[in-house]
Formats: sequence, C-alpha cells, structure tokens
Amino acid sequence: MTEIIDGNAVASEIRSEISGCVETLTEAGVTPGLATVLMSDDPASETYVSMKQQDCEEVGINGIHVEIEPDAPSEELFETIDRLNDDPEVHGILVQLPVPDHVDKRAVIRAIDPAKDVDGFHPENVGRLVAGDARFKPCTPHGVQKLLEAYEIDTEGADAVVVGRSDIVGKPLANLLIQKAPQGNATTTVCHSRTDDLAAKTSTADIVIAAAGVPELIDGSMLKEGATVIDVGVNRVDADTDKGYKLVGDVDYESAKSVAGAITPVPGGVGPMTRAMLLYNTVAAASDHHDIEIELP
Ligand code: NAD
Repeated sequence: MTEIIDGNAVASEIRSEISGCVETLTEAGVTPGLATVLMSDDPASETYVSMKQQDCEEVGINGIHVEIEPDAPSEELFETIDRLNDDPEVHGILVQLPVPDHVDKRAVIRAIDPAKDVDGFHPENVGRLVAGDARFKPCTPHGVQKLLEAYEIDTEGADAVVVGRSDIVGKPLANLLIQKAPQGNATTTVCHSRTDDLAAKTSTADIVIAAAGVPELIDGSMLKEGATVIDVGVNRVDADTDKGYKLVGDVDYESAKSVAGAITPVPGGVGPMTRAMLLYNTVAAASDHHDIEIELP
C-alpha cells in the first residue's frame, strides 16, 4: 500500500503547536509580528499574501500588510523595508516575490534585516544554512523535512534526488539533506534543466523531491519501487473546470502512486507545510529577539 503523505494533517499539528508558542510569547509580553509586503498585482501573489495574513490571524501572530503600487519607484519598497526593519513590533518581514522588473530582487533580499528574514533568503542566512548553523530554514525545504520526519522516512544514508536548483527550494533543500543532522545525512544528487537523462537519476533514488515547475515531469516509470516521492511543484494546467484550469504537481500522481512507497498529493502535500513553516520562523524570530524560551515543534 502506498502511503499518502498528508501535508494538511502535519501542518495542522504544527500550527497548533505554534499557537502554543505564540501564547507563551504573548504571556511574556511579546506578540510576534509578521509584515508582508506586496508590490504586484498578480492575482496568485495577492492570494499567497492574503493566505499568509489569514494564517497569522489564526495562530495569534500580529499580521501587518503593506501594499506598494507595482509601478512605484523602487525607493518606496526600500523605504518600507527600512521602516519595518526598525519597527520593534515586526519580527518577520516577507516581501512577496516576484517583484516588478524595475526592482533589483537581490537588493531587496539584502535590504531585509537578516534577523527578520523569515524567508531565509538573505545571503547571511543562506551562508549560515550551508554552514550547518541555520537561523531560518527557508519555508518550503523546512516543510519538506518536517514531512519526512512526521512520516518517519529515514534520510540517513538514503539516495535522494532533488529535481530543481532554485534558490528558494532546490538549493537549500539539497543543502539540508546533506547536513550531518536529523533529516539530513542523505547522499544527494541535484538535477536541473541541463541534466542529461533525468530518469537515470530518479530511478535509483530512495527519495525523489520534485521542484522543477514542470507539470507531471516525473512519472512512475522514472521511479524505483517503494521510493518516497515529495512533489513540491504547483502548476496550473488548462482544464474543463469552473476556473478553466487545475493544479498539478511536477509528478504524474497516478502513475507515481502505483510505484512509490509514499507520496505527497498536490494540493495538500508540501503547500500547507510551506505556510506553516513561515509561522514557525516568525515565532522563532520573536523568541530569539526577546530571548524568550519557547518549545518549537
Ligand atoms: P524555479 O523555476 O525557480 O526553478 C525550477 C528549477 O527546476 C530550475 O532550477 C530548473 O533548472 C529546474 N528544471 C526546470 N525544468 C527541468 C527539467 N525538465 N528537468 C530537470 N530540472 C528542471 O522554480 P521554484 O521556485 O523552485 O519552484 C518549483 C516548483 O515548485 C514550481 O511549480 C513552484 O510553483 C513550486 N513551489 C511550490 C511551493 C509550495 O509551497 N508547494 C513553494 C515554492 C515553489
């Protein structure tokens, strides 16, 4: 029987533990605060940000939202970041990516105070993660690790293949999997758009993590019997639905499910975990800043 890895259930447990952490902090006089900044009128970005704000409200985190017109000068965004960096009520800052073309994305990431960089994208935090001393693990890779932990999928000595080398998913995830640490110690191969013969790599892996943004790139024929398959991909494909599209992962779920030992669905796999880990990082930032001990999940 293939185990279906239920991201909603694991995320819900983590969120309830985070609520407890928020309570502890609040009793100590600190309400964790997360600022989201949106400089885009892309409907998907708007939805992501509003979901993040809703998540904050549910666990008692103080959500602050700032919107900047997409055609505003980039200085407006940098001034906003400076103000949030200085605001003692704000413990985490998330600038929703992508930013418009006239804004230098790397400069935006560098402008955020690393101690408030709950996405974990600032070079200081990337460096710390690579060095095995992570301050904030980026939310999606961290969520994947938590799923593996929850389902007792042993990464120690396992052959893991990460498909995708982005700064937000593939690279940090591969770095976490090779750490000498829990949910690490895997022999990790990173595949990408120039990989020659992807199937040759995935078909020998114990764990395949797909983060390519290519609909149903990986099917059952590319997997080893009993492999764990974590599908990070979220892709809109045309479909005969009310919205005119449906969401699919980077894995062809039906064919992969017939071969895999455990698999995440899309939606309901990694997505809810990413959202939960943002709350985790925000609470961790507040606890660090005020030196208040909490028990994070
Ligand atoms: P990205 O476009 O920045 O990176 C994609 C990576 O995949 C690149 O490194 C590229 O080299 C690689 N790639 C592309 N085509 C490939 C192919 N044919 N074979 C092998 N590798 C290939 O994307 P991203 O931001 O890392 O996101 C990846 C996917 O994950 C997207 O579908 C995105 O929507 C989704 N995502 C989901 C969550 C979540 O919470 N579920 C979070 C972040 C991203």
